[in-house]
Amino acid sequence: MTPDLTQTSLPQRVVIGLSKIGMALKSHSWQNAAQHGLTPTQGQILALLRSKGTAGMRLSTVAHELGVSAATTSDAVTTLGEKGLVRKAKAVDDGRAIAISLTPQGQQMAERVADWTDFLLDAVSELSEVEQEVFLHGLIKMIRKLQEQKQISVAQMCVNCQFFRPNLYEDADHPHHCDFVDAPFGDRDLQLDCPDQAAAESTTAQQNWERLSRSISQKES
Ligand code: SF4
Repeated sequence: MTPDLTQTSLPQRVVIGLSKIGMALKSHSWQNAAQHGLTPTQGQILALLRSKGTAGMRLSTVAHELGVSAATTSDAVTTLGEKGLVRKAKAVDDGRAIAISLTPQGQQMAERVADWTDFLLDAVSELSEVEQEVFLHGLIKMIRKLQEQKQISVAQMCVNCQFFRPNLYEDADHPHHCDFVDAPFGDRDLQLDCPDQAAAESTTAQQNWERLSRSISQKES
């Protein structure tokens, strides 16, 4: 019997592929956390705090970034505190608020659990340089859409950043400029989780996105 190749549309098959990768991520997240005596949420909190440096984060921000409830986050942070991996202190920017940060033991544990996504690097390196760049641009577009729909927390991406100056130069390899580091960069260097990102005003972010997506579409067409 000839298979019906039109039964599932291309977007549906992309979603099926993404969900398979999502399941692999979830499974590795559980395995990795369990190896270190943590739950996946506890492991994700350590990895998140590690990525934010020494300033620490408020409980509500941690919950928002991980997409879990405040109660779940609070329970996980309490357990991490009991294990001596995190501490609570007054927030640097607001003495009435509490920020959570890693203890030295927490920093060591965070280093160990942070590499749980490395299994995907092998698979990504199967893609050619061009395929990786196209994939990155597709991900940026999808993440931005999901952010607009409030389906995921706002990622610290160049496209939302006040330091981002898209297509400032004629140089096809380095058309953009980052005001934070005061240097040009290319489409392949666009960031998804930059620690120096600062949110741009919404009109500016929208204009920057339109300029960037126009040039990327032209390049990839
Ligand atoms: S500060 Fe980071 S997110 Fe902002 S433009 Fe520069 S590299 Fe991109």
